[in-house]
Amino acid sequence: MRFDIVTLFPQMFPGYLSQSLLNKAIEEGLVNVQVHDLRDWSTDKHKMVDDRPFGGGPGMVLKVEPVVDCVESLRAREEATPDHLILLSPQGRKLDQHVIEELASKQQVTLLCGRYEGFDQRVIDLLEPDEISIGDFVLNGGEVAAMVVIDAVIRLIPGVLGDERSHHEDSFSTGNRMLEHAHYTRPREYRGLGVPEVLLSGDHGKIAEWRQAESLKKTKQRRADLLGDEHKNKPTD
Ligand code: SAM
Repeated sequence: MRFDIVTLFPQMFPGYLSQSLLNKAIEEGLVNVQVHDLRDWSTDKHKMVDDRPFGGGPGMVLKVEPVVDCVESLRAREEATPDHLILLSPQGRKLDQHVIEELASKQQVTLLCGRYEGFDQRVIDLLEPDEISIGDFVLNGGEVAAMVVIDAVIRLIPGVLGDERSHHEDSFSTGNRMLEHAHYTRPREYRGLGVPEVLLSGDHGKIAEWRQAESLKKTKQRRADLLGDEHKNKPTD
């Protein structure tokens, strides 16, 4: 899967791209991430890509021409595949695991990272991007939001995780639309706190039952909104 990131701050990405699962996925050719500096599409001699808002008010607005030119030139590349264009915005549809699953089925995703007051409205009117918000708060820019999208999507790409069951059993995921159960590892006891006996029993049937019950209990306590009506009324101990 290919990601193209369009940003005014390309230097925010090398650290992120060079670590952990994402770095491994890139090295193994499962994921390709290209970072593009929006200033490369500025026609201004000072490489400006923003301007003051018509009507006045604070802040600057990202100009329409460099953004449209950039997207059109990415689409005109020889190796270009049909793209899925995302514009990161606090005003977009809210990101959740369903949206991540939808994005993981794409061959290519372009992520437009805003800054300042955001984009000139005509970027949206002309390019009709999928506007995505990572939550009801305002970031300084779309770069961290782009990393959030990529980080969650790559977990679903076959071969990226060592064990495919990991994402299937994760909270909110296809195999488990609830919160995941608790995990424990060695030591068996720490500061008087032990590990549930069943996890040490070696009985896989009982372990699966315990995990399912824990998952339901936790979800009821913390996120009852995730449960269907059949679960909401069932007692848990
Ligand atoms: N003036 C805009 C508003 O009130 O809707 C906020 C602009 S914000 C300071 C600058 C950029 O950060 C946005 O263009 C967007 O790309 C990014 N951004 C901020 N909050 C975000 C969020 N919750 N989700 C995704 N992107 C966000």
